[in-house]
Amino acid sequence: MKRIALITSGGDAPGMNACLRAIVKTCLNKEIVPVGYYNGYQGMMEDEYKEMNSLDVKNIIQYGGTILGTARSQEFRTKEGRAKAIENIRKNNIDGFICIGGDGSFKGAQALSEEMSIPVIGIPGTIDNDMYGTDRTIGFDTALNTVVEAVDKIKDTAGSHRRIFLVEVMGRDAGFIALDGAISSGAASVLIPEERSNIQLLAEELKTQSKRKGNLIVIVAEGDDAGGAEDIYQKLLPLMEGFELRYTILGHVQRGGRPSAFDRLMATLMGVYAVELLENGKSDVMIGAKGDELHTISLQDAVNNKAEAEVSKLNAIKLLKTVN
Ligand code: ATP
Repeated sequence: MKRIALITSGGDAPGMNACLRAIVKTCLNKEIVPVGYYNGYQGMMEDEYKEMNSLDVKNIIQYGGTILGTARSQEFRTKEGRAKAIENIRKNNIDGFICIGGDGSFKGAQALSEEMSIPVIGIPGTIDNDMYGTDRTIGFDTALNTVVEAVDKIKDTAGSHRRIFLVEVMGRDAGFIALDGAISSGAASVLIPEERSNIQLLAEELKTQSKRKGNLIVIVAEGDDAGGAEDIYQKLLPLMEGFELRYTILGHVQRGGRPSAFDRLMATLMGVYAVELLENGKSDVMIGAKGDELHTISLQDAVNNKAEAEVSKLNAIKLLKTVN
């Protein structure tokens, strides 16, 4: 292993920089040249890269976003697009590839591995936590903490005015942020894409709970089948006359900010491990975390399975009802 390519791809997530730093430093310690491509697969196709040194990763562990940039590239989904990337990878004598991203990014990595037989390792980096084969993805913990901090603030004003607040969090297809955010912030209820929402029932529940508590928080994942927080608000209004309802959309604030210690730690361990795996001849695997332990699963399994935390999700919903 003499030259390893690395990219950050898909949505950015806090902790990606910590991971890049770990990969670069591990490579340099092993006299491997880390070649960072800018803007994910876009940079690979356009041959925009930098042979990274320790100065490039100095003082970046504490920052969100990604110093390499990221992109969503339609062209790379085509064989012609990937052919451009393959030509550049060959020209630059790359003999291993580490991709930090979500399942879309890993599908791209798999395609590269098949079409040019280069060893690839995937590191799960997405705030959504929606990757099969790992308890946690890089960025999830930080996003969750951002949600909890924001809801704490909303609760201050909700309490003073005895209002019911719908708080929309990220999660187009997955309710991990919403569920864990709801439990950690003491919300009254949660709506997630994986569960069919019954607005009539929600209204009844809120009326009952409101008698006891006055102010209530409902966490809504943006991709809920009944719509986002604004849609739910419109649907609840006629069912809840006499109650004061408000909604807030947290939006992209959930993507940024300083990565939590947990995300920095996991990102660092995964980055080091990825280089070691390539050195040991491993390919086509994603690194996952189970508790404190890291393991690998095949990229095939990672992308072909949905992160079905159904059991834990249903348990979480029960838990939410028990503690409210
Ligand atoms: P996030 O979970 O944050 O959305 P992601 O990695 O799933 O991250 P995507 O936009 O789905 O984000 O994928 C990132 C990039 O990977 C895409 O822009 C595209 O270039 C490439 N990609 C996605 N799917 C495929 C595929 N089936 N074949 C080849 N490349 C793909």
